[in-house]
Amino acid sequence: MTMIDQYAVFGHPITHSKSPRIHAFFARQTGQLLHYFAQDVAADGFVAAADGFFAEGGRGLNCTVPLKELAWEYADHLTERARLARAVNTLAVESDGRVSGDNTDGIGLVIDLTENHHLELAGKRILILGAGGACRGIIAPLLERQPELMMIANRTPAKADAIVEDFAGLGRLDSGDFTQLAGQQFDVIINATSASLSGQLPPLPGNLLAKHGYCYDLAYSNRPTAFVAWGRQNQAEKSLDGLGMLVEQAAEAFAIWRGIRPATKAVIETLNSERDAN
Ligand code: NDP
Repeated sequence: MTMIDQYAVFGHPITHSKSPRIHAFFARQTGQLLHYFAQDVAADGFVAAADGFFAEGGRGLNCTVPLKELAWEYADHLTERARLARAVNTLAVESDGRVSGDNTDGIGLVIDLTENHHLELAGKRILILGAGGACRGIIAPLLERQPELMMIANRTPAKADAIVEDFAGLGRLDSGDFTQLAGQQFDVIINATSASLSGQLPPLPGNLLAKHGYCYDLAYSNRPTAFVAWGRQNQAEKSLDGLGMLVEQAAEAFAIWRGIRPATKAVIETLNSERDAN
């Protein structure tokens, strides 16, 4: 009997995850035979669930909130970007049976910004709001595009300071709390706080976004998030949410597992048209 390769996303909560549909699209499009499912796994059950999944022949796992740091500890070895991020969203079984850990969130964001939305990051002033796991995942891939500088502003500034220390040497980085943003302007503002999930917005001064600037909320929703709405009010050239990033990080994970990168445009269009209809 031929066993179909098994993949899954673990997280808590997980019921609304779009990942099984995204990977089913990719599998159909690339003619790959695989099964991808979502499983509700809380932090205290992660190691047992991952051990069980791989013992039964599972080939690859995505990990989402609140498991990315645990997946980082679980991996037998890490890519450099995952090591720096201290968070793993993609685990893969290698030919020798060891489990590798990668973080495709940052490259997913960069591809969405630069390829899907034609934004040149080189020479730009970038502001990141928030200093949690998602912020750590996007810093190195953004710095690779050689922005002029990157500022990390967080409600708890010590967390932003620690990130600047960890990534020192990769580019020009600065940190502070939201009050330190007064009088500054940025070409790209990325919301990596989880404030949008509760309809909130970090306290942002007026005039923060430069002319023709971009706003990007890592969170996504059927309705414009509070930060996407803020970007529109502040005349952003584009004010986007994280749906494109979600699809692009999934395409990168699929490429790690299957050796082929699926096309993403039709998948993003389908998911976008579904939420327009809601
Ligand atoms: P964490 O819990 O690790 O970090 C949350 C961050 O948000 C912290 O910096 C926290 O500040 C800040 N924060 C929370 N509430 C507020 C508020 N009311 N005002 C100001 N700051 C606030 O979350 P993650 O980093 O894992 O996730 C952040 C966001 O990114 C989530 O919305 C998540 O859904 C999204 N995401 C999207 C992805 C995609 O593919 N599109 C991929 C990964 C994440 P403090 O340190 O002071 O507590």
